[in-house]
Amino acid sequence: MESDSIECVSSIDGMDEEEMSQPNHPSSKPNAGVAPSAGIAPATSVHELLECPVCTNSMYPPIHQCQNGHTLCSTCKTRVHNRCPTCRQELGDIRCLALEKVAESLELPCKYCSLGCPEIFPYYSKLKHESLCNYRPYSCPYAGSECSVVGDIPFLVTHLRDDHKVDMHTGCTFNHRYVKSNPREVENATWMLTVFNCFGHYFCLHFEAFQLGMAPVYMAFLRFMGDENEARNFNCSLEVGANGRKLIWEGTPRSIRDSHRKVRDSHDGLIIQRNMALFFSGGDRKELKLRVTGRIWKEQQNNDSGACMPNLCS
Ligand SMILES: [Zn+2]
Ligand SMILES: [Zn+2]
Ligand SMILES: [Zn+2]
Ligand SMILES: [Zn+2]
Repeated sequence: MESDSIECVSSIDGMDEEEMSQPNHPSSKPNAGVAPSAGIAPATSVHELLECPVCTNSMYPPIHQCQNGHTLCSTCKTRVHNRCPTCRQELGDIRCLALEKVAESLELPCKYCSLGCPEIFPYYSKLKHESLCNYRPYSCPYAGSECSVVGDIPFLVTHLRDDHKVDMHTGCTFNHRYVKSNPREVENATWMLTVFNCFGHYFCLHFEAFQLGMAPVYMAFLRFMGDENEARNFNCSLEVGANGRKLIWEGTPRSIRDSHRKVRDSHDGLIIQRNMALFFSGGDRKELKLRVTGRIWKEQQNNDSGACMPNLCS
């Protein structure tokens, strides 16, 4: 049940008889179109009462007050040196239990309701839900810059193509050549991002150089443009090789919910030591020339996916 609500799966009217008696699920009542808005309207002003007058964040227990009744969140309380920021009187250690109780009785819509989340939560579980809500926007998966753009997947795909000039490919196999003229300079062998569209979803293929301890390494990894649960429906393989040697990585792509840096730092991808990279590049080791191939397939349709992997059979 817990995971159901995290997925923001809206219940079908009349299906969950026992849920209709629970106060947490007003949206499952037959007249769901009217009831929630009517129930939320008065809560909005109470919600303003629950806004910390100092930092304007929502207050959660313990909620403090001064002797004159001015309220304050627990974070701000530690910062005001025992003086009420409103009346400058000594603050003391008084809890505002009444306001905590009022908060407990509130039910508020998820803050991503405008993005499609139908869930309504008791005040104290709302924050936890919102940090995991499936409708929360994704951050731009483009790495290497401080891009702060957020949005849904179709929006981010357009953003990557138009604003970051990212290469877009269709198909579940890929064959990429990465060439760098001076492989000695790791910081110059910058990352690259390519976006693949297959199975109706988008995948980000990252390639980059970084220092692993003292050693420079190259890494290719794949991120799924969607949430973690959906990412688990897919598998991918990444290969690099030449001159009779081959490295293969196989696994589930990570979600772009995990930052580029987090995936990189967990080494969850194809890691190529520099000596091997130069060996794969052939020639005089003056130039980095890596051919990374791979494919993406759906976990359940493993047997049907043979058609899209011809160039990887060895
Ligand atoms: Zn505060
Ligand atoms: Zn005061
Ligand atoms: Zn939500
Ligand atoms: Zn961006």
